[in-house]
Amino acid sequence: MYSPVGGPHPAAGKEKKLMDDGTLATAEDLYRIGRWGEGFFGVDDAGRMQVLPVIGNDTVRITIQEVVEELTEKNVQFPIVLRFHDILKNRVRQINESFATAITDAEYGGVYRGVYPIKVNQMREVVDEIVDAGKPYHYGLEAGSKPELMAVLSYDVGDEALTICNGYKDEEFLRLALLGNKLGRKLIVVVEKFSEIAPLLRLAGEMDVRPMIGLRIKMRVKTEGRWSGSSGERAKFGLTTSEILNAIAFIQEQGYGDCIQLLHFHIGSQLSDIRFVEDAVQEAARIYARLRKRGIPLQYLDIGGGLGVDYDGSRSSGDSSMNYSLAEYASSVVHSVKQICDLEEVDHPNLVSESGRAVVAHHSCVIMKVIGEIANGANGVATDAEEGEHFLVTEIRDLCDELAEHCNYQEAWNRASRVMESVLEGFKLGVVRLEELAKVETLYWKLLRAVSEGMKSADFVPEDLKDIDELLASQYLCNFSLFQSAADSWAIGQVLPVVPLTRLDETPTNNCTLADITCDSDGKIAHFIGEHGEQSTVPLHELRPGEDYYLGLFLTGAYQDVMGDMHNLFGRLNEVHVFCDDEDPTDFYIEEVIPGSSAGQVLTIMQYNAPTMANQVKRMIDAEVRKGVIRSREGVRMTDFYEACLNGYTYLK
Ligand SMILES: *Cc1c(COP(=O)(O)O)cnc(C)c1O
Repeated sequence: MYSPVGGPHPAAGKEKKLMDDGTLATAEDLYRIGRWGEGFFGVDDAGRMQVLPVIGNDTVRITIQEVVEELTEKNVQFPIVLRFHDILKNRVRQINESFATAITDAEYGGVYRGVYPIKVNQMREVVDEIVDAGKPYHYGLEAGSKPELMAVLSYDVGDEALTICNGYKDEEFLRLALLGNKLGRKLIVVVEKFSEIAPLLRLAGEMDVRPMIGLRIKMRVKTEGRWSGSSGERAKFGLTTSEILNAIAFIQEQGYGDCIQLLHFHIGSQLSDIRFVEDAVQEAARIYARLRKRGIPLQYLDIGGGLGVDYDGSRSSGDSSMNYSLAEYASSVVHSVKQICDLEEVDHPNLVSESGRAVVAHHSCVIMKVIGEIANGANGVATDAEEGEHFLVTEIRDLCDELAEHCNYQEAWNRASRVMESVLEGFKLGVVRLEELAKVETLYWKLLRAVSEGMKSADFVPEDLKDIDELLASQYLCNFSLFQSAADSWAIGQVLPVVPLTRLDETPTNNCTLADITCDSDGKIAHFIGEHGEQSTVPLHELRPGEDYYLGLFLTGAYQDVMGDMHNLFGRLNEVHVFCDDEDPTDFYIEEVIPGSSAGQVLTIMQYNAPTMANQVKRMIDAEVRKGVIRSREGVRMTDFYEACLNGYTYLK
């Protein structure tokens, strides 16, 4: 039996004990792998990041660096999305078994019939795996648009599982939904807007089918955080109390009263505080109970999505975290509904939840290579004293010498900042020479490094001096696009764990931010897991010449996988499906490599025609060949090269 509760895997603790010098314990602390990893990630005694895809079986350990090596041998280019299907399977089980356990423990009268909202990750292989893993639990699917419903309709989820349609609907959407009912599916159309009801009933009449109707409540309860707009009076979706009563009256008048089967709400994503879940469930359960008492044959209460993911591993109510576990969530929902229904003396409804993020976030990660470091004034010029040099150069050099003797950090930093300002003014006025500016710059950075070094042993760091570390942070240039692979890091400052795949037994010496290869200065990651909440840098290792250094960007399976865009025409990533195999010495096998976008493919989306482009370039080359500027043989090579690039990957080689 595995424990459905999150929290450190038993193996996480064992890792630390393996180490004599305690350095692995440090890696755990620095990157909090055991905390955000929910038991799926660990570090081996050689300091390599590992995946433990099967909860409860810590003998299956996939070393990500070994996957990287195999892919390098196969010439698959980075960046790469790795999908661990076993993690996905385990998450589906965990969520279903958590509800099953809570229901048994509470002696609850209904069953759990969860659905996976495919908008969170619509990739076919992901949905395939979820449907497959969900079969024993009658786990269903949710669609929020016509194309999503078309995808969902193509899956056989079984007779007991639900299919739920949310989102705004036109007649075509409704017709597709009713087609589902016609095919015998338990498909519920959730009414988001009063005006959807009349066409739904008319089409049902035309198609001669009994629909299953759900009503979405506009919740009163206000949440906090990024998605707070999903509830409250001004929410975009749902029916107010009066609209619900009117809707019911109208549906009954039309002879469809028996079709009203589900009550739905969704108060937002990544609910970080369990209090909001409880408040919302109580409000909805009360409405359910009152409607049941009026004879509405409601059978399901659908609590929407919102189950959080602890991205920063802080177990807090911060935006990138959550202050509850999966087991607590399930138990809190079940108990709240039971309590209210018992008070109101109505039957317990079957429970539906639409968790997306919590099901898919853990299963995929992006592996990228650090391709260099962007210098930040580190490379200087000689700064020896010279006859007749500008007094500002002398002043800052003296400052450096004084600092070494007196350790007056705050004063040195204040004065150095003033010298830097003056020298820039002087340079603009033409009284400071370029060489002098270079010397002052060099000495300034030297002083910053000395201050930062000195502060490490200080008991108290003045607020002003904290900026220095940020100024000194190295920028590691990584071969990826933030806009394609981590849209939420850019859009909403979402923290995603970043961990090097190797050298976790070495103390990292550089505090870094990560820059991507887009030509956009926004293309960098500066939100990381910190000791006290979030911080702007991540500790990484010194790059070694001739040695590859790979980083993993973890928990990218929800939204990030599918929301990315093609900024700068960096396209979709090569995708690799990794499965565990306990018999294999490496514990894994690569089932499939799905090529990412080629340059030609992304250009086609932008209305270019790759063959025409190749032809045009060929004509230009031919013209130069005729003029004798380019040799014929070289011309052919150039033509081939251009065509090969059209078929090639969009990222750096
Ligand atoms: C987006 C959405 C979900 C999924 O939310 P998560 O926070 O990812 O679990 C569920 N239901 C509805 C109606 C949604 O719009």
